[in-house]
Amino acid sequence: MNLGSGWNRRSFLSMLAAATGNLLSPSRLNAEGMFSKKGKQTIPPVDGHPIVPITSGLGSTGDIYAELGVTPLININGTVTVIGGSVMRPEVMELMRQGNQHFVLINELEVAAGKFIAKLCKSPEGYTGLVTAGAAAAMVVGYAGMMTEDLEPRITSCPDVSGFPRTEVIIQKSHRYPFDHQIRQTGAKLVEVETREEMIAAINPKTLAIHFTNILSDRGKVSGPETVAIAKAHNIYTFNDASADVPPKERLWEYPALGFDMVTFSGGKDICGPQASGVLIGKEELIRWSMLNMSPQEDRIGRPCKVGKETIFALLKALELFVNQDYDSVLKMYDARAQVITDAIKKFGVTALPREFNPQALGNVTPHYSWHIDPAKLKITGPEVMQKLADTKPVGIGSMGAGASGLRGRNPDAPAGPPPERRRRPSDPSVFGFALWQIKDGEDKIIADRLVQIFSEAPKA
Ligand SMILES: *Cc1c(COP(=O)(O)O)cnc(C)c1O
Repeated sequence: MNLGSGWNRRSFLSMLAAATGNLLSPSRLNAEGMFSKKGKQTIPPVDGHPIVPITSGLGSTGDIYAELGVTPLININGTVTVIGGSVMRPEVMELMRQGNQHFVLINELEVAAGKFIAKLCKSPEGYTGLVTAGAAAAMVVGYAGMMTEDLEPRITSCPDVSGFPRTEVIIQKSHRYPFDHQIRQTGAKLVEVETREEMIAAINPKTLAIHFTNILSDRGKVSGPETVAIAKAHNIYTFNDASADVPPKERLWEYPALGFDMVTFSGGKDICGPQASGVLIGKEELIRWSMLNMSPQEDRIGRPCKVGKETIFALLKALELFVNQDYDSVLKMYDARAQVITDAIKKFGVTALPREFNPQALGNVTPHYSWHIDPAKLKITGPEVMQKLADTKPVGIGSMGAGASGLRGRNPDAPAGPPPERRRRPSDPSVFGFALWQIKDGEDKIIADRLVQIFSEAPKA
């Protein structure tokens, strides 16, 4: 593919479609096969299952992003919600389509889905699952459920929890994070502690639960098993937010088996389910109380945490594929993608550094690949390369500086001047790197071609 003048959006999308169309017959694995002679689209150049060709209105050009005037991105960042998290596999899209075929009692479907999850995820005896509208939504309905139990007057009054017997949630100070808003939004009150002794001393008759933020567990003084032991000794609940912490898939069963009463995982991160889905695994009674606080039920705090029938089916399929995948071959695929890039840019004296990979990292477990630019050959820095990748048209590669931390409101009390720089890893200016777990088939080649262009244009040292 020529990334120069001949590189337009259509050829890009055709190439992408060809590359991602590996479920199609090999004879159709070329860009021409995607469009008939008249330029009419024959196979939608998007991920997922071709359902029906769109011949008019939105979607009829085969490029819905251009139709709305927004910039699509190649994801070298990770399972980040602000850029769309992850992408569903064709089988998951197919379940979404099949899930749309019939009406069904959502509560009946959720109970059945919960059993499917518990079996697939080897949950302990007496546990079941729930498909939620994300891990954050799981926290809302989970904490509401712990407080309201099955009492309708409490359910309809939450987040007004005055008069509820137990509303305090203990959290280690180091485990505070943006998602504890989802605990506070239920009306529960957070009680910060630092040590094991403080945790025990904070427990009183109003204490409901101890929250455990898995991804921050190396910063806290009290471990997961200790937290569970303390809670059990005092007859209070535990909730583990392990949203971004699979792979490894074993954590789906290891964390509930540790004795946490409820554990949540995002469905829209590396599980690659629908973006707005999550899994809550917990004690049957707690899951029932969570359901009572959730859509489709009305007049409760979790009514906006809606999951549709198609989302439920699709999440189950994604979870099944995730649990059954061979992670070693997944890793080999990531390495092969990096090799495509390495091979393409070595002629510029740009060399691959050893990949960084900690399979036991707390969250976002994936290899990180980086490359070294020889400053004696090229006058371009790693951050400049990353910026040029992000500025690539028509499809950006990564999101450097592109508003990828979400919107922020005004703060009239903030000191004047630009906001403080976000802390970055101190980095060698001759190095650039990224993760390749969320790119799609064929995008390694696109990244490699773009890097070749960037390095060809870079001033020689
Ligand atoms: C992503 C994330 C969440 C939110 O998960 P959603 O599925 O997007 O709602 C909660 N907690 C942590 C630690 C996360 O990383």
